[in-house]
Amino acid sequence: MAAHGRHFVVGNARGERVVCVTRGKKAGPACGDRVQYTATGVSQGVIDALLPRTNLFYRSDAFRAKLLAANLTQLCTVVAAEPSYSDDLLGRSLVAAEATGIKPLIVLNKVDLAEAAALARSRLALYGTLGYEVVEVSLKTDPKGALTRLWPHFENQSTVLVGQSGMGKSSLLNCLVPDAQAATREISLALHTGKHTTTDARLYPLSAAQGQVIDTPGFQEFGLAHLSPGTVERAFPELAPFLGHCRFNNCTHLIEPGCAVLEALRLGQIDQRRYTLFAHLTRESRTQSHAPTGPH
Ligand code: GDP
Ligand code: ZN
Repeated sequence: MAAHGRHFVVGNARGERVVCVTRGKKAGPACGDRVQYTATGVSQGVIDALLPRTNLFYRSDAFRAKLLAANLTQLCTVVAAEPSYSDDLLGRSLVAAEATGIKPLIVLNKVDLAEAAALARSRLALYGTLGYEVVEVSLKTDPKGALTRLWPHFENQSTVLVGQSGMGKSSLLNCLVPDAQAATREISLALHTGKHTTTDARLYPLSAAQGQVIDTPGFQEFGLAHLSPGTVERAFPELAPFLGHCRFNNCTHLIEPGCAVLEALRLGQIDQRRYTLFAHLTRESRTQSHAPTGPH
């Protein structure tokens, strides 16, 4: 449910929180992982095994790929009418979802701010044309309506929440998990840390249904340098019709003559903002080495 240094909070079948350590120097589990543990004391244990994962979700910083969560089915990005959200960060989280093989969901919050919401809506229209779902809510002024609209998207899903701070991610979490604050305190208590503990991610089971949400800290950057160039290419659904139609079969779609992607861009069939992000991520990716066993 949470990781803090070498300590891991495990929720067991009886609903208890057990603080576990791992044996040896193996890479630790991530939020959302399923593990087997042996109890070593009251609310304490040792992790014996990590069960197979369906997927892993990473974000890179300047130095390395950081494992944030595992076993996800959905990535929800929270944006708001105000303050203005970053297109670059939203685009990157959609790429992260595609690269992880999970469903991207965009939540537009603060639609009560009518003028700003209209602007945000027109900026988001692009993503609608790409097939990404946008759910509009006003978590503060209409929490009941928000819950009604959000619930079908979250029940039975394992969702990781991402967003810049100030967009309403905490409001969203509290809407879906009314006892989230108590759950956060329980995790901090189990870890014997103060209330200001910064864990990388925390898992909250949905109280009224199957499903869970994993909250991640608000971010200002969303590094994706760990993705291989091929993964970046496949993470842009609008490129798919043009791939395989370039003059060179190892085309990077950055500068080559006879590139079908660059031609589609010129004809306005691919959005300039999306291509800029694609080119940026491809260059970022090409300056990294990608070990075959590492994140891809
Ligand atoms: P976080 O930083 O992403 O976790 O965002 P919070 O949930 O803490 O919300 C940031 C600010 O936006 C707070 O001052 C909230 O009161 C405000 N806020 C959240 N939802 C809404 C909304 O639907 N409408 C308006 N006008 N303000 C909201
Ligand atoms: Zn090309």
